Amino acid sequence: MTNKAGLPLEPGSTIGILGGGQLGRMLALAASRLGFNVHVFCPEENSPAFKVAEKSYAFDYDDSQALARFAQATDVITYEFENVPAHTAAYLSAKTPLYPNAGALKVAQDRLAEREFLISTGISIAPFHAISCLEDIERALPDISTPSVLKACRLGYDGKGQSIIKSAKDASDAWTKIGCVPAILEAFIPFEREVSVIIARSQSGQMVAYDPGENKHLNHILDETIVPANITVETHQKALEIARDIAQALDYVGILGVEMFVCNSPGLEALYVNEIAPRVHNSGHWTQDACHTDQFEQHIRAICGWPLGGGARHSDAVMKNLIGEDYFQWPHFAALNDHSVHLYGKVIVRPGRKMGHVNRTIPRKSMPKT
Ligand code: AMP
Repeated sequence: MTNKAGLPLEPGSTIGILGGGQLGRMLALAASRLGFNVHVFCPEENSPAFKVAEKSYAFDYDDSQALARFAQATDVITYEFENVPAHTAAYLSAKTPLYPNAGALKVAQDRLAEREFLISTGISIAPFHAISCLEDIERALPDISTPSVLKACRLGYDGKGQSIIKSAKDASDAWTKIGCVPAILEAFIPFEREVSVIIARSQSGQMVAYDPGENKHLNHILDETIVPANITVETHQKALEIARDIAQALDYVGILGVEMFVCNSPGLEALYVNEIAPRVHNSGHWTQDACHTDQFEQHIRAICGWPLGGGARHSDAVMKNLIGEDYFQWPHFAALNDHSVHLYGKVIVRPGRKMGHVNRTIPRKSMPKT
């Protein structure tokens, strides 16, 4: 957003963040470093971002009076998760500029809309069918074949709302497992590795893409992101090009995460987009310690109408999530002089809960020419 004189939003202005998890917290810290005030809106009391914000609003996303006060007090609003209810986004954006735009949010919060958008931009994705009942799965299976993946259209994350169909007899169980909700049935892609590109786009259309990171999952949750990814120069370039095309087509402002499958089999494309995330992304946490401007600051710059910062990688990096009891390893990591520790201030440790992450950096001998 720009101020009334058409200039970038000035330090001292107030940024509103919807969602109070670790992503909101790290956005708030980055905003604070640039001299902004931060207000956080999140229904859960004691949210991690509340602890670093000037003002917290612990109200439901349907509470229009609280939303009105939040909009009134802020100069620009952003969000840390894609499941912000559409009516909440519409209500707020009528009062205060909201970035990324509501259209991008709509595309990213529904897998079918996301797939249709990606097809319209000519980007390769796994073949799929839209599913609204069990019979749809049975009709689609001969075309999609097995193994295939049934994915709920909405509210899926970290492998939730998903079921693999190994043979036609699994269809009914898979449909029940995802909760009998609108879904897509997608062909299984025999990928070699998974990568993601984190890209920033500013209000003037400037784009800065970070180097692709290679993602390793454990129990369907991101465990590590390794940079550089073990991919060819051509695949690297293609991955950046895809991310740029998506950001451009969405008229996007802020940080966008694009997850892709890398294939190396005859008859397959080199890259398939699996998912887009209209927000800062776990697989971009490595940028905090390996780039001049990290994804959090870059997002704040973009939504405030500032120029984007440099995204070049000065170090190689391995980001490791501290999940559940991993949290208790923090003293070990804190004692290593090539690791940076990032903890989210969560009091209760639960299995599968993201408690923090560590970045190990390895300086590069020489910086690439940009
Ligand atoms: P998603 O929730 O769509 O990000 O999927 C979670 C994980 O499931 C991905 O990171 C992949 O490891 C796996 N997966 C999802 N879709 C497919 C697919 N079409 N083919 C193969 N693996 C998949």
